[in-house]
Amino acid sequence: MKVYFLGTGTSQGIPIIGVDHPVCKSTDAKDKRLRVSIWITWGEHSYVIDCGPDFRQQMLSCGCRKLDAILFTHEHADHTAGLDDIRPYNFRQGEIPVYAHQRVIDNLKRRFDYVFETVNKYPGAPSVKTIEVVNNIPFAVGDKIAIPVNVMHGDLQVFGYRIDDFAYLTDVKTIDKMEVEKLKNLKVLVVNALRVEPHDTHFNLQEALDFIELVKPEVAYLTHISHVLGFHEEVQKQLPENVFLAYDNLEITI
Ligand SMILES: [Zn+2]
Repeated sequence: MKVYFLGTGTSQGIPIIGVDHPVCKSTDAKDKRLRVSIWITWGEHSYVIDCGPDFRQQMLSCGCRKLDAILFTHEHADHTAGLDDIRPYNFRQGEIPVYAHQRVIDNLKRRFDYVFETVNKYPGAPSVKTIEVVNNIPFAVGDKIAIPVNVMHGDLQVFGYRIDDFAYLTDVKTIDKMEVEKLKNLKVLVVNALRVEPHDTHFNLQEALDFIELVKPEVAYLTHISHVLGFHEEVQKQLPENVFLAYDNLEITI
């Protein structure tokens, strides 16, 4: 299985429009972060987790020609705003399956009403087939199984997903013990780490490192990163041996 980091930035991306912070001005490609998303492939199978506002650019960068489904974590715009740009896949493949919590499906129906139009739908509009994700009910993704992992983003429920020995959790602030049980014996854990300062709805760096200590994956990658976390190269040097800062266009094999 290959995991390609399509974007590793927090909601505004890095650089932020109009901000002169040194990290926003950095010439290191690893300091440029699109909105957070990953592309998971194995054999002929191809899935993305989330579909943010940089989706088009990300699909062009990674060269994804076929998309089996989108797995959504939650409805926030940095994770969903690219939904209109699935149309090239629709034109080649037909409707694209979308897996999400029922609350997220309802939210998408409001925000992208034209996608769900049943009467006189514009022929070029995106088309999706929605599949509700329910906690504790694993579901098939190709010939593998995805296990939903329930986490909390402040007061908002968010799904992470485990597939084989890989788990992707973003926008976590708290997680129940029962859910941590689902994360045993991971080869690779991806988890969010916003910045050094605490934040109300996202793990800061220390919380992410403590969580990694608890879960004990072989290796962990940090994502959903703010410019104020610092330069990629400098932050990486301070991390434990098995913890890495993810960066855009990084590809790992599991
Ligand atoms: Zn987010």
